[in-house]
Order: sequence, then C-alpha cells, then structure tokens
Amino acid sequence: MCDKNCNDNTVSLSIPSFEDAAKFHGHICPGLTMGYVASKAALEMLASHRDSDEELVTIVENDACGVDGVQVLTGCTIGKGNLIFQDHGKQVFTFICRDSKKAVRAALRADFDVSTIDPGIASLRSKVMSGTANDAESAEYKTRMNNISEKMRSAPAEDIFDIKFTDAKIPSKARIFNSVKCAKCGEMVSESRARVHNNDFVCIPCQEGYTRGW
Ligand SMILES: [Zn+2]
Ligand SMILES: [Zn+2]
Repeated sequence: MCDKNCNDNTVSLSIPSFEDAAKFHGHICPGLTMGYVASKAALEMLASHRDSDEELVTIVENDACGVDGVQVLTGCTIGKGNLIFQDHGKQVFTFICRDSKKAVRAALRADFDVSTIDPGIASLRSKVMSGTANDAESAEYKTRMNNISEKMRSAPAEDIFDIKFTDAKIPSKARIFNSVKCAKCGEMVSESRARVHNNDFVCIPCQEGYTRGW
C-alpha cells in the first residue's frame, strides 16, 4: 500500500536490506547493487513500502543481476504478475504505484563505469570468469566486488542513475485465464497461450513441433 501523501518518513524502515538482496541473489556484484540502489531510491520517492499485493508494479528492461535486487526490495515478482520484463538489454527500471498513480524511472547513467571505482577490475574479472584465477585471485575478486558494491551504495543514487518521476501507463492487474487441453500432448494450457492447429487447441511447444523449424 502506498502513502498517497508521500511524506511518511517511517516508510524507509520497511525497505529490505542489501543483505536480504545479497542472500536472495547468492553473491554480491555491481549488477545486484544497481537493482538495489534504483529500487531503494524509487521506493523512497514513491514513499511506498514493499509490495504485498500488486500495489506496486515494476517494469525491468533487462534480465540481469539487478532484477533480483528489484524483486527483494519491491516485492514485485513474475509470479504475482507485477514484475514486467521487457527484453531491451537496458539497465532501466520503472516503478509504478497503483494507488498514487505516480511512477519513477531509473536509467543507468551512460557515464557510470565500475572501472572508475576500481581500475583493473575488468582484467581480474575476465581471469575469474574464464576459470584461470587461482584461489588468492578469486578471494581478491570477491573482496573487490564487495568494496565496489559498498561504494555504490554509499554514493548518491543520482551518481549511478538518472532517476525521476515519469508518466507511466499503469498496467492492468494480472488476469487468471481458463485452461484448455492440448490436442497433441494432452497437457492443460492457458487460453491466453494456446494455439489453434487443424481446429484443435495445441500448446506452444507442440505447435513448434508442427513447424519446419524456422
Ligand atoms: Zn550478480
Ligand atoms: Zn502440447
């Protein structure tokens, strides 16, 4: 639920911690930190606390680490239908409060570069990612990732994101669809995803089997 007056100073207390996000994500990285920083700033601007049942909607324009931070902080998830994924490959997040009809858009600044926080991290990263780092290098990488994340979190969010109120179309609430039986595999499929083949309903994987593969 959102505070329509957007001036409740107590709301930030209910925003989950970075540790909560790191635990969910499984490691600490700049990407996760981006999602955390954007969500925290946006929730404070919207004076909204963590979503309990669709009061918040978040549109994410990538499917990278930061989305896990967004899910933990906002409570918006794919399962609830209030996390909308747009496959744009952009570090852009839009947070929409249904009650106040306010929306905040956070876009990663083009001049933000992790290597300005830690010059040399890129070469260590490629060593770790290619599996050629030794134990000491792997440990150093982890420490440096933590330091980068800490610096990102202690900087103003505006150093990392262009973040401002925006006009956003409020998506309709998630719908529940009836299911039909796939004529090929016999499994149930939501009407919203069923395809028709020779006057029968089929599911998408079965329909793909009918095509010539292109
Ligand atoms: Zn990550
Ligand atoms: Zn099927």
